Amino acid sequence: MGMDKKYEFIDDTIQCHCQWCGAEKHWHFYQETELASLFFITVWRFTPDYFLVCETCQYPFKLPRSLGKQLMANQYDQHSADLAASLLVADQTLNVKRSSTNE
Ligand SMILES: [Zn+2]
Repeated sequence: MGMDKKYEFIDDTIQCHCQWCGAEKHWHFYQETELASLFFITVWRFTPDYFLVCETCQYPFKLPRSLGKQLMANQYDQHSADLAASLLVADQTLNVKRSSTNE
């Protein structure tokens, strides 16, 4: 049984501030699907995960699955996009702090 990960680029319409880049950036929305294969035939597809990746520094942010699904289904409605952006800011704030205390 082999495991494989497939990344599908969905869109880059979400724009928000990246704390690593220190600027307003486009974030690439990816769907990651893990596949199980047997003799090169896909036998199982796991529930996909969703990521936002900064176009410049490639900072990856894993979205809560429910929000990722909502973005897919509602074509990036303003409410979901705003929620994704605020979670992203919170995640980056945590990581920026963590890396500066390690130094
Ligand atoms: Zn960035």
